[in-house]
Amino acid sequence: MQVMAIDKSKCRPEHCENGICVATYSCTWKVLEQEKPYVPPAVDLKRCLGCARCTFTCPLGAVQAAG
Ligand code: SF4
Ligand code: SF4
Repeated sequence: MQVMAIDKSKCRPEHCENGICVATYSCTWKVLEQEKPYVPPAVDLKRCLGCARCTFTCPLGAVQAAG
């Protein structure tokens, strides 16, 4: 299964409103989440369905398919 990875070299949470990762909103299952504002999100790989919805929502292309 294809899973997601955060490219931390591209992720700039300070560019998201109030430091909230907009890509997390696209994951209905809350697999992609931030510990707190202004930090890059993380993917729970055990629960990720590989649907790729989140990859379309990061304006900086920091959420990408991995593997
Ligand atoms: S992954 Fe994209 S949308 Fe999420 S905090 Fe980083 S830059 Fe913002
Ligand atoms: S690929 Fe789908 S299930 Fe996985 S983190 Fe993105 S939106 Fe959530």
